Amino acid sequence: MMNDRYELFNKLCLRHISLSEHSSYGIGGNADYFAMPATVEQLVTILEVSALYGMDRVVFGMGSNMLFPDQPKQGKLYISLKNMTDITVNDSRWFLTSGLPLSMLSLVGLITGSPAFQFTYLMPGSLGAGIYMNAKYYKEQVGDKVESVYYIDLADPALAVQQIRADECEFAYKQSIFQHKPWIIVGADIRIPEHEEAAIAHNGDISRLLTNYKNSNGKLSSLSAFYSFFSSELRGLQDRRMTRIETPEAMLEIERYRTANRHFTSLSCGSFFKNNYAADASIGALVERLGLKGVAYGGAIISPYHGNMILNAAQATAADILYLKDTVSDAIYRQYGFIPEPEVVVLTE
Ligand SMILES: Cc1cc2nc3c(=O)[nH]c(=O)nc-3n(C[C@H](O)[C@H](O)[C@H](O)COP(=O)(O)OP(=O)(O)OC[C@H]3O[C@@H](n4cnc5c(N)ncnc54)[C@H](O)[C@@H]3O)c2cc1C
Repeated sequence: MMNDRYELFNKLCLRHISLSEHSSYGIGGNADYFAMPATVEQLVTILEVSALYGMDRVVFGMGSNMLFPDQPKQGKLYISLKNMTDITVNDSRWFLTSGLPLSMLSLVGLITGSPAFQFTYLMPGSLGAGIYMNAKYYKEQVGDKVESVYYIDLADPALAVQQIRADECEFAYKQSIFQHKPWIIVGADIRIPEHEEAAIAHNGDISRLLTNYKNSNGKLSSLSAFYSFFSSELRGLQDRRMTRIETPEAMLEIERYRTANRHFTSLSCGSFFKNNYAADASIGALVERLGLKGVAYGGAIISPYHGNMILNAAQATAADILYLKDTVSDAIYRQYGFIPEPEVVVLTE
């Protein structure tokens, strides 16, 4: 039995994998060990055996809110959950596993007639991280849509799957309880109260979407590939359904906004800092006032279009990005008296 686990672990753990391919920044050196479990059982095996080996581990989703190190620590295991993608749709409830892209939820909503997740259309990243970060777009945030979350507590020797209700998750602006606990989110129940009469649940469309995603082989951390996948899935869905599905204006508006702001043609992790309005303006507006837009260092640049984005313009290293992060932090501190909190999770080894 135990031997089976070691065998599975060895099969799932790849060696010397470039983290840059699993990062929307396109940044990161070679991980000594790398795994993409497809099921909770595979994840538990990886966690059990890596604990027995005493390995350092980090769990992530699609790498669209993380800056990986240029030189990952030797012997460290990187675990991406982006292959854990299952959906069960009942009338008023969805059960979703954590690796599902947030953007896919908007399409599942379109298929089943629920507008609840329109706001996640073309939002990079996975559901698990969306819960961890309480990802938001304008007034809507993931934490408000969740009924309960399933997780594994790394401090629990049994590594059993536990459940927590949304009202216990301490969701607030870009905050959740998961940021303060050694917990790995494996899935969530979502309550879907709003069903439109005209739309008909269509499991064929959902499984086609999932199969197409699985066939992308974990390559959608690349923002251009991500955009081309989801925009063409949306168009394909409309073509197959002919006139029965119309893309809601809210989703078209998101597409216009994100493409106009070059979200999918630059390498980035989206906004680098959390907004706190301590100086009565967004971080992007403060960066603009300080004249820092367009400032470059190494291969990195503060976006000329959006002051809160630091881009990988030309084979930037993590060190280049961090230099510009410090440039922004120092300037804001000197002028406005506070240090902005990064939203991007910086892995320093
Ligand atoms: C172009 C662009 C636009 C963006 N726009 C928005 C936006 O409008 N709104 C917004 O909120 N964000 C936005 N983001 C940021 C990003 O989309 C979200 O933060 C998303 O939730 C990250 O998902 P991910 O799977 O890539 O997370 P990752 O980068 O893989 O991980 C982020 C953090 O979550 C933790 N984590 C990941 N999965 C789990 C899990 N299953 N259990 C426990 N911890 C986990 C990781 O350890 C890490 O600390 C944008 C990013 C980009 C590149």
